[in-house]
Amino acid sequence: SAQIIDGKAIAQRKQAEMAEVVANLSLQIDRPPGLAVLMVGDNPASAAYVRNKERACQKLGIASLGQHFAAEVGQAELEQVIDRLNQDDRVDGILVQLPLPEHLDATALLNRIAPNKDADGLHPFNLGKLVRGEEGLRSCTPAGVMALLHEYNLDPAGKTAVVIGRSILVGKPIAMMLLEANATVVMAHSRTKDLKSVVQNADILVAAVGKPNLITAELIKPDAIVIDVGINRITDATGKSRLVGDVDFAAVSEVAGHITPVPGGVGPMTVTMLLHNTIWSYCRKHGISYS
Ligand code: NAD
Repeated sequence: SAQIIDGKAIAQRKQAEMAEVVANLSLQIDRPPGLAVLMVGDNPASAAYVRNKERACQKLGIASLGQHFAAEVGQAELEQVIDRLNQDDRVDGILVQLPLPEHLDATALLNRIAPNKDADGLHPFNLGKLVRGEEGLRSCTPAGVMALLHEYNLDPAGKTAVVIGRSILVGKPIAMMLLEANATVVMAHSRTKDLKSVVQNADILVAAVGKPNLITAELIKPDAIVIDVGINRITDATGKSRLVGDVDFAAVSEVAGHITPVPGGVGPMTVTMLLHNTIWSYCRKHGISYS
C-alpha cells in the first residue's frame, strides 16, 4: 500500500529550521520579520487558520502585526490599513484572510498589497512572475505541494500530472509550478466531460476541489502520486464531525504509490510556506539571499 507523505512532520522540521534562520538573522538585523494577517468578521474556520498562523509566527520569532476587524468594516478603511502596512518598515508580509464578507471587494484589496509584501503570492505581479518562470513570491498551498514532492524525491519531470480544480488560489498556480518542473500537465475542472478517462493517465494527481470522495480507487493509476488538497468537514457514520479531503483515502491508499493524508498532508505546508515567504521578503529587503 501507498507510502504516506507526512506533511505534518516535514512542516515541523522546516519550521524548526526557519526558527534557526530567524534567530541567526537577529544577530545582523535590528528587527524580526513581521507578518500582518488581516481578518474580517468571525468565520470560525478563518479564525482557526488565523490563530494557527499567529501561533506559528510566535514559535519562529516572527512578529505578528495583524488586525481583526468587525464584519461591517468598510472597503475604504481596509484600503487605508493596507496602505499603511505597505509603508510600515516592520512589516514584510501582508495577507488578507479569505473569504471576506460580501460587501467587500477582495480582489481590489489583494491588488493593493505591495507586491514585495504579498506573502500569499496572489497579487497579479507575483502570479505573472510565476507564469513567466521568474523569481517572486509563490502562493503558499501550491508551493507547499511542490515542497512535499521535493522532500520525497518525487521529480515531476516527464510525468503526466493531472490537476483537478482551476482556482486562482490552488489549481492554476499548482499547474504552472508542475509545468515549470517539466511535468506534462492536464487541468480538469467542473466542466470536464469524462473525469475518469483523464485521471486514469495521471502519474501525479492533485485534487483541489472541495468534494469528499470525488476521487475513488478505480480512477487511480497503480503507483500514482496522489496529492489531496481538499479540506471538507463531514459528519461520519458515528455522528462525529471530522475533516476529509477529496480522495477516498482508505481505498486509494491500496492502489497509489504515495498519498497525502487529510489532515496532516498539504495543510501544514501551507502555513509553512507563508512563513517562508515572510522570511524571504525580509531577507530580500536586507540584501541577504534565502531560498
Ligand atoms: P474553489 O471552490 O475555488 O475551486 C474548486 C474547483 O473545483 C473549481 O475550479 C471547479 O471547477 C472544480 N470542480 C468542482 N466540482 C468539480 C467536479 N465535480 N469535478 C472536477 N472539478 C470540479 O476551491 P479552492 O479554493 O480551489 O479550494 C479547493 C479545495 O482545497 C477546498 O476543499 C479547500 O478547502 C481546499 N484548500 C486547502 C488548502 C490547504 O492548505 N490544504 C488551501 C486552500 C484550499
